[in-house]
Amino acid sequence: MSELAYKRTNVYEIADEKLMKEIFDYAEGYKTFLDEGKTEREVCNYVVAAAEAKGYKPFTFGTKLNVGDKVYYNNRGKNIYLIRIGKKDVAKHGIRILASHIDSPRIDLKQVPLYEAEGIAMAKTHYYGGIRKYQWATIPLALHGAVILKNGEKLEVKIGEDDNDPVFYISDLLPHLAAKQNAKPLGEAIEGEGLNIWFGNIPYTTAENEKDKTVKENVLKILNEKYGMEEADFLSAELSLVPAFKAKDIGFDRALIGAYGHDDRVCSYPAYTALFDEISEENTVMVVLADKEEIGSEGVSGMQCAIFNDLLNEIAASAGVSAAAMRANSLCLSADVNAGFDPNFPEVLEKQNATYISHGAGVTKFTGARGKSGSSDADAEYMGFIRKLFDENGVIWQTGELGKVDVGGGGTVAKYIANMNISTVDIGVAVISMHAPYEVVSKADVYETYLAFRAFIK
Ligand code: MN
Ligand code: MN
Repeated sequence: MSELAYKRTNVYEIADEKLMKEIFDYAEGYKTFLDEGKTEREVCNYVVAAAEAKGYKPFTFGTKLNVGDKVYYNNRGKNIYLIRIGKKDVAKHGIRILASHIDSPRIDLKQVPLYEAEGIAMAKTHYYGGIRKYQWATIPLALHGAVILKNGEKLEVKIGEDDNDPVFYISDLLPHLAAKQNAKPLGEAIEGEGLNIWFGNIPYTTAENEKDKTVKENVLKILNEKYGMEEADFLSAELSLVPAFKAKDIGFDRALIGAYGHDDRVCSYPAYTALFDEISEENTVMVVLADKEEIGSEGVSGMQCAIFNDLLNEIAASAGVSAAAMRANSLCLSADVNAGFDPNFPEVLEKQNATYISHGAGVTKFTGARGKSGSSDADAEYMGFIRKLFDENGVIWQTGELGKVDVGGGGTVAKYIANMNISTVDIGVAVISMHAPYEVVSKADVYETYLAFRAFIK
């Protein structure tokens, strides 16, 4: 291949001993983060603690922000904004924004979940985000979330992560009796209303009333004894079933990490750790860890919420400059994952324009579907800026799009930020089996994405 031709770089092919050590050391911190925060609430708590340890203080609206200030805004415990005020004039230079999301596809309990069928206590669910339903049966599931009790007290729930905890379960057919199910299209093999959770099997034989000697009643008794709950407390609860797996190295060489919810904690971790490195005091930097991306970035904790603009306005007002001028000069990396090329399924990705695992941070110029519809499609000038920045800082990166033309598609938070007159492009880590209970990424890509974010906020 000539000097003039473009070729992707495999990080592991060129990494020296020092870089290999950095890549593998960084992955350990990421794996801990994955295991500690499986829901947006848990990630929020984890990052708030990390931020406070780095001297970040909670921000309240109406407080003036000064150069050198490090603050965080914890939005309802589900979404967090980290802000560091730099020395540069924000009207002239704008601010640097890294925006990722901390919600992942999962299975949520309904508000009236409990029932009993043939001596089994079951719970009804409604899935959250784009899942392939059949993948969530016959795996151990942990129950995470929050319950607001009748008296207003908040109960934090996390059952199934400790080795001594029970886990929960969705059943599937045995192959011996699955002939009919096998003939169905994969997407219909298990239906939404079929994602019912196994909750218990022992009847409440010592109940005073004959009609209470049921398995469901026994589950209610356990919930009451252990957590002070009654059935109506599910009405004001947000309880999610997530895979009970821990993050693990994959392969003999340990190059890859398997875990639940790389999408998009694999970009959130590099974003906030790059900020905490404090490599430069020049730029004002905002790291957004958004919620609700998987269901369209809606609502009070989603990227479309006015709170994002409100915080930008506070930064501009504190500096005494026009918020519009600040936004016009601000730059954003929408940090989200892309589909990695999977040799088991080569037919859905276009080889020349796919992201490959272990080939560095993946820049995605546009997302969307069917003719780039629904994408903000970054301009050549901003792509040029990013390209130069990464190349000058020794970041290994590639580009890729989500699948072959017209095969499918997807979206990120990018367009909501770009719509506010802020130059934005997607960048993130290539993921294998995205949205599955156990997804796979390359340690090298996690590290290169972190280096990309460091270069961007410097
Ligand atoms: Mn994502
Ligand atoms: Mn996703």
